[in-house]
Formats: sequence, structure tokens, C-alpha cells
Amino acid sequence: MSNEPMLENVSCTCDQCERPLADDQAQLTMTTAGGTRRVYECSCGAITVTVTDETRLR
Ligand SMILES: [Zn+2]
Repeated sequence: MSNEPMLENVSCTCDQCERPLADDQAQLTMTTAGGTRRVYECSCGAITVTVTDETRLR
């Protein structure tokens, strides 16, 4: 499970404080038919969820 596309490495930011969230801050990664969801917990305590639609990365 290490074939992550490097191109679409979109950096996301916290919903609340807009701090940048690094990939290694992801607490949880879920791959579903709709894409990959990553759950980030910011140091401010807010939870940010991102969804990567893998069908568009092909
Ligand atoms: Zn934050």
C-alpha cells in the first residue's frame, strides 16, 4: 500500500486554524470506492477530513 501518487500531493490545511497539515499527521486513512479519506487531527484539536478521488488520478 505504498503506491501513492506523488503528483497530487495536495497539501491541506486545518479547517479551523488553517495550519498546513502534513501527510504524516493523518491519524486514519480509509480507502473506499469513492476514494481515499484521510483524517487529520490538528494540534489545535480540530479534525479535518480530506477525500482523494483516486479515479481522477489515473
Ligand atoms: Zn488547527
